Amino acid sequence: MAHPTLSEIYRQRRLALSFELFPPKTEEGLNNLFQHLKELTGCGPAYITCTYGAGGSTRDRTLQVLTRVMEEYPALPVASHLTCVGASHEDLRGYLRHARDIGIAYIVALRGDPPRGDKTFRPHPDGLQHAIELVSLIRDEFPGFGVAVAGYPEMHPASPSRAADMEHLKRKVDAGADAVITQLFYDNDDFYRFRDRCAQEGIHVPIVPGILPVTSLAQIKRIAALCGASLTPKLMERLEAHPDEEGQFLVGLYHAARQVDELVEHGVPGVHFYVLNKSRAAAFICRALTLSNRG
Ligand SMILES: Cc1cc2nc3c(=O)[nH]c(=O)nc-3n(C[C@H](O)[C@H](O)[C@H](O)COP(=O)(O)OP(=O)(O)OC[C@H]3O[C@@H](n4cnc5c(N)ncnc54)[C@H](O)[C@@H]3O)c2cc1C
Repeated sequence: MAHPTLSEIYRQRRLALSFELFPPKTEEGLNNLFQHLKELTGCGPAYITCTYGAGGSTRDRTLQVLTRVMEEYPALPVASHLTCVGASHEDLRGYLRHARDIGIAYIVALRGDPPRGDKTFRPHPDGLQHAIELVSLIRDEFPGFGVAVAGYPEMHPASPSRAADMEHLKRKVDAGADAVITQLFYDNDDFYRFRDRCAQEGIHVPIVPGILPVTSLAQIKRIAALCGASLTPKLMERLEAHPDEEGQFLVGLYHAARQVDELVEHGVPGVHFYVLNKSRAAAFICRALTLSNRG
């Protein structure tokens, strides 16, 4: 089925919603995910993405999830995340060929993180050092894919400076990215400043905020530490006032709903939800803010 290009998605829709899944480890997890996906697809997303981990089995699971999404929702375009971790040029080409042949429409092109415990990213001896090289490879050899890349409102944690980070992002976009999806953030001012810096740098593709509604304090502390995102003092204070998970969930939901409402008023082209394979928070926000009707 012919899908709109990624650029068309952001041009044609007033607000393009995307939901990011990850490959579950078990069959039960997979079935649960598809239950949640039923509710999420009811929110009218423009496309669905699935993350990609290092190692063969995780790769296969990314494809397994996306294949099933395509079977159950043939009208819905899907994007595979792809990283350079542990992959040679040929491995990457092989994955891209396969993804193209089974009908994956877009690629979220990433460098990936070094293995746990390692601070420095070391490319495969015949692999790629930065996401920009992956974008170039896709543009040169697989021009049919839409390509999204990662952007960091609070700067990539390994970057020496914001200026260097922006310069690399500009080069990554110039290599052929159609959109930038941001790392999660909890203070919209970080996003607005980032968007302004993108404009100053001459980056004119859609800048799409990535939103992760907090569902528990323990979980978000772990995730934020991993990706370098900061929690606002007010959000922390409110979360800490609730020892129970349901209370924390509601605080996180309220915060994310306010974030999204304000971002939409500030004219974002779409919202990318890190749904972590659950539907309750994202579906609530989409319904309460009537986001589904804005496509
Ligand atoms: C939307 C989104 C989705 C993600 N999905 C996944 C996923 O599915 N799987 C996964 O493992 N990880 C995922 N990540 C995490 C991502 O892999 C990490 O944040 C990783 O550390 C950086 O990836 P990147 O593509 O931004 O790298 P790059 O763009 O290559 O940047 C990495 C670092 O190198 C610097 N840099 C870039 N180019 C150059 C250059 N030419 N010279 C010197 N320095 C340079 C950058 O400033 C930055 O500090 C995702 C992140 C986001 C925001």
